[in-house]
Amino acid sequence: MTIDVSAILKELGGKVTLNGTVCLNDIGFLGGTYSFKEPVNVLGDISNNGKSLILRAKCTGTMLTQCARCMKEITVPIAFKLDENLVQGDDGNSYDEDVIVFDGTAIEIDGIVADGFLMNVGGKYLCREDCRGLCPHCGADLNEGECGCDSDTIDPRWAALVDIMKNNE
Ligand SMILES: [Zn+2]
Ligand SMILES: [Zn+2]
Repeated sequence: MTIDVSAILKELGGKVTLNGTVCLNDIGFLGGTYSFKEPVNVLGDISNNGKSLILRAKCTGTMLTQCARCMKEITVPIAFKLDENLVQGDDGNSYDEDVIVFDGTAIEIDGIVADGFLMNVGGKYLCREDCRGLCPHCGADLNEGECGCDSDTIDPRWAALVDIMKNNE
């Protein structure tokens, strides 16, 4: 979504409404993958406070990710806020890190929304609070019933280690 801010660049207090959608690309981040079947809704505004343009918006939508325990694909609602400082800068000056510099009179906000998502995504997502996860022995989905593994059995990988330790004694 590209926002034309030419009307408010020189006008203190000027405001442009944001009301649209942004399509986010699939994101792999911190071991999880997040994909978006539907565009993210962006509702807010960009206003001129005399020094810079302030972008404030609420983003809502849904994402597809995996249950942290059973790896099943799940749809999770997302909601996060954007609160950004935008400065028009084509003069080669350097700016604070937390300022977004844009050229000309149009601001492309897709990247800003994607960054905002990354700042807010995190934690573990579960298909349900009491997801039982996968059996560490056979990999069966324990939500679908017991797999028959004896939970006291030592994992074969550990068993091999136990043998080595015994031989060393
Ligand atoms: Zn699960
Ligand atoms: Zn099992």
